[in-house]
Amino acid sequence: MLLDALLQQGPSYGLLVTVDKCEVFWPSGDQTVPEFPSEIKRVYQSEGGTTLLGSPVYGKDDFIDSTLAKVVAKVLNSQSHLQDLDNPQVELHLLRSCLGSCTLNSLLRTVPPSLGSDQFVHFDKGLRRSLGVITHSSISDSAWHQATLPLKVGGLGLKEAVPTSSAAFLGSCNFSRNLVSFFLDKEASNTTDLDDITNSPYVCIPGENHARNILPKYLGSDTIPPNLTNASQRQIQSRIDSHLLSNLKEGFSLRDQARINTISTPHAGAWLKAIPNPKLGLAMLRHEHILTCRYWLGISIFPDSQQAARCPCGHVMDCFGDHVLGCGHGPLRKKCYNAISEVIWHALLVDNRDSKQEQKCGGESNNRIGDVFHPDFLEGRPAFFDVSVRNSMQPSYVYKAAIKPGAAAEAGE
Ligand SMILES: [Zn+2]
Repeated sequence: MLLDALLQQGPSYGLLVTVDKCEVFWPSGDQTVPEFPSEIKRVYQSEGGTTLLGSPVYGKDDFIDSTLAKVVAKVLNSQSHLQDLDNPQVELHLLRSCLGSCTLNSLLRTVPPSLGSDQFVHFDKGLRRSLGVITHSSISDSAWHQATLPLKVGGLGLKEAVPTSSAAFLGSCNFSRNLVSFFLDKEASNTTDLDDITNSPYVCIPGENHARNILPKYLGSDTIPPNLTNASQRQIQSRIDSHLLSNLKEGFSLRDQARINTISTPHAGAWLKAIPNPKLGLAMLRHEHILTCRYWLGISIFPDSQQAARCPCGHVMDCFGDHVLGCGHGPLRKKCYNAISEVIWHALLVDNRDSKQEQKCGGESNNRIGDVFHPDFLEGRPAFFDVSVRNSMQPSYVYKAAIKPGAAAEAGE
């Protein structure tokens, strides 16, 4: 038996079966399934409904709804305790990685969107509420849609359950269709007819047609593109995200275009992935993280420009804090410059202990100061690294940065 092979040979491949978490369900035959070890829990078909590995796989609509409601309530309750940690960086990590829609993924893949939508809507509202608590702000529709995008395109990776349910359920149908077809000895086809499941010559997955009908609205099209007909959850989700991003950009101001372009550049979201470990210097102060999240999402930092403080240069700071970040008179730009120089210097020190900061270049460079110096960088030749700090939100860069990602950085080269 396959299970015996897994139990005996799996450990040598690093595959460990947790027997007491396994369940076996055999609705059409002997439900005691004597072939399986007694430690494995048997799941029996009941009239009200049946749950397998936490997912309601069979039952009336109200059974499926109440099963989902219990799971969603449990996750939302855990989310409500995040603020007890009083550490927004840790809270956001946990929200994204442990208490977001990833927690529901097995449900999203097994429950048709038509049956789960009420609970998924409820879940999404809770997720948005939690982000508001973490950022200490009310989350606008635009900030929320951005937050639901992946980190690599400027989001916070807080996927909403409602659009994800279509991708997850259809991805699951596409993935399992051939296997179900083999077991039922029916032809695999995604053109199902729900009115006649029993007699249909095709594998019919209840809820699939509805999921296919609602998916185009998340893709911004009238129909499902041919290349997504049998696609995986990841492929479908990627198209949903692309459509959401382009929709978001259409309603954006020039500043917001520049902002989303800038934070979509490679590694811009690395701070969101960093494990908040103080010993590695990766933990952010509470207010640092709150303000950075708000800046990332385009949420104002000051109430409005009229009430904001003045910069030492005399300029009234805007409500987003763009001026103070880019102003040469304030301390932030200098601090940013120093921090980047330090990081480069420490990285070069690992390679060569004679690496130094602020060394004269000499020779044809008119003896100017190089920010970081490495005496033997490439084939015995020394190298000088210059650090330049540019902010895409500076008035002089906003227009270019709104058209081309990285335009402000290029200007500093
Ligand atoms: Zn200033």
